[in-house]
Amino acid sequence: MHQPVILITGASRGIGAATALLAAERGCAVCVNYVRNRDAAEAVVNAIVVGGGKAIAVAADVAVESDVVKLFETVDTKLGTLTALVNNAGILETQMRLEQMDAARLQRIFATNVVGSFICAREAVKRMSTSLGGNGGAIVNLSSVASRLGGAGEYIDYASSKGAIDTMTIGLAKELADQGIRVNAVRPGVIYTDIHASGGEAGRVDRVKDAIPMRRGGRADEVAQAIMWLLSDQASYSTGSFLDVAGGR
Ligand code: NAP
Repeated sequence: MHQPVILITGASRGIGAATALLAAERGCAVCVNYVRNRDAAEAVVNAIVVGGGKAIAVAADVAVESDVVKLFETVDTKLGTLTALVNNAGILETQMRLEQMDAARLQRIFATNVVGSFICAREAVKRMSTSLGGNGGAIVNLSSVASRLGGAGEYIDYASSKGAIDTMTIGLAKELADQGIRVNAVRPGVIYTDIHASGGEAGRVDRVKDAIPMRRGGRADEVAQAIMWLLSDQASYSTGSFLDVAGGR
């Protein structure tokens, strides 16, 4: 039996990094994609290799189609047949209301969070679909509870990009259901990662945690467990599903 091969976008930090470490523990060869932070990506790869696993770090901007094509070709060459994709790379920008947003910001958010996820999914489908000669596989998309809460006053653009991811998950799951590929999404709540600093509020999790039914923020490794379950054979009849990891929010 061949070793499973997983590509995780944005795996140098946060939820992606936690998922990379867990996937390696479960026996996968892991592609740790990143866009800028090479040291962080290499630290994740080193941790996997030191633990006896197999991993590579590959720089690629998921918003750039040619980068994505090269990223998947690198996986083909260096790790072998792809079996799973985690569409994890995602960005948000400084908190603001709609009347302050310009088109350039909206284009950045949608290019990374939506177009990037679509193009990565396309490349994964080309390799995994049983209709195209592949052996099947699984995709997990990182959505957010923001898709159902709306992000009012902070980032309705980001929340809307996650709404698009939810719809893509439903449609693609149906499109691929008879081609050996399951497509599901995880919707994290507020998780302790660097993403909140990019929204201009590094301490956001602690500010909002009392409004969460469990009264705490989540950890990246708790989200990673949900992602890996949806990718696993234990989730063999789940497709087009959403797993909220949000402390009851
Ligand atoms: P994070 O800590 O900010 O890490 C973002 C990761 O994405 C980094 O590895 C970064 O690479 C990479 N990245 C950013 N833009 C990229 C691009 N254009 N191409 C390739 N990689 C790119 O984020 P996180 O909090 O772990 O979030 C991961 C996912 O979960 C996102 O989709 C996010 O929307 C979702 N989510 C997070 C939360 C939360 O509270 N944290 C809640 C709901 C949903 P570099 O290191 O090279 O910059």
